[in-house]
Amino acid sequence: MSKTIAINAGSSSLKWQLYQMPEETVLAKGIVERIGLDDAVSTVKFDGRSESQTLPIKDHIVAVKLLLEDLKRFAIISDFAEITGVGHRVVAGGEIFKSSVLIDDEALRQIEELSSLAPLHNPANAAGIRAFKEILPDITSVAVFDTAFHTTMPEVAYRYPMADKYYTDYQVRKYGAHGTSHYYVSQQAAEMLGKPLEELKLITAHIGNGVSLTAINGGKSVDTSMGFTPLAGPMMGTRTGDIDPAIIPYLVENVPELENAADVVNVLNKESGILGVSGLTNDMRDLEAAMAEGDEKAQLAFDMFADRLKKFIGQYMAVLNGADALVFTAGIGENDTLLREKIVSELSWFGMDIDPAKNVFGNSGVISTDAAKVKVLVVPTDEELVIARDVEALKA
Ligand code: ADP
Repeated sequence: MSKTIAINAGSSSLKWQLYQMPEETVLAKGIVERIGLDDAVSTVKFDGRSESQTLPIKDHIVAVKLLLEDLKRFAIISDFAEITGVGHRVVAGGEIFKSSVLIDDEALRQIEELSSLAPLHNPANAAGIRAFKEILPDITSVAVFDTAFHTTMPEVAYRYPMADKYYTDYQVRKYGAHGTSHYYVSQQAAEMLGKPLEELKLITAHIGNGVSLTAINGGKSVDTSMGFTPLAGPMMGTRTGDIDPAIIPYLVENVPELENAADVVNVLNKESGILGVSGLTNDMRDLEAAMAEGDEKAQLAFDMFADRLKKFIGQYMAVLNGADALVFTAGIGENDTLLREKIVSELSWFGMDIDPAKNVFGNSGVISTDAAKVKVLVVPTDEELVIARDVEALKA
């Protein structure tokens, strides 16, 4: 009996999913939220049940202890020894981590050192790693990096057009993100198309609250839309995506409540995108409900969102010199038939053609017509499964 747990730790939350391996069956999943507060909430989902409790949770170690106790309490496991592996999602792997690794003291030190590239995420990821090391020190512990899949990008794509020293001395380059998702859906898409991944040129569009697109040639990421940080790329739920950076000092000089660059970047990250333009919501379902009521700002936000996505798809058509397929994934990509229809119909020149009978809610796989030159697919992403598989693969 071998069980593996996939962990996605944020600064105040810890998401987890427990697998029976190698069968890849999900036994339970859950989230601990509001870590650090007296009214933290832990939710466990299993067997169609959802159990929540509110209690003080001081830190990630207490959160991990609680979730493990819950697994016993709900008889999902009978002994901690059944858990033989843990996989941790780590946001920034820099140029060091090109694939998933077993976490020893050196790897943990490097993950913490890379915090300068992801100050909100890597320290939280490291806290999750430390918590498991303390409570279950003997199990296989693996780090899976959001950036690893993109380490195949050529220099021409990952460098910014700046003097060498900013790259060599300050590590300013494109790292990308959502790598695990782009990797997983590209593999799935190849299977669905019945062709070897090595022979395919794909554009994968991860469209959730965060949005990133990747140009994949023969299974390798050759360009991606997130940059030095996840603020880059097309418009997102609360992020601007790419803008003219000269806007930043201009706003610091002219907007009284924005005192420095960090204040502006906070606005660009958290108060912009769909939320900023609509003035209503960052949630696509709520946005579309407002559009249906005739809300003009909601409509503008939707149209801008589609416009930016379309331009990135065009860019990657150029990067790849033509693609075999466009793949939609994540919350919006997997579910939003309206957005998919709009984007694909406006790219018909490229040879994309959506089949309305296949572009329906709940459907996945190929949704383009048989005659379409560039196939369009919907592929549900599963980052946790990739994490669990990597733990299996690295087990001694
Ligand atoms: P995150 O980046 O937070 O993981 P998700 O991948 O879960 O985000 O995507 C969240 C987005 O997916 C939200 O904007 C949500 O409204 C959208 N979404 C979920 N279901 C639908 C649906 N049926 N139609 C349109 N958008 C949807």
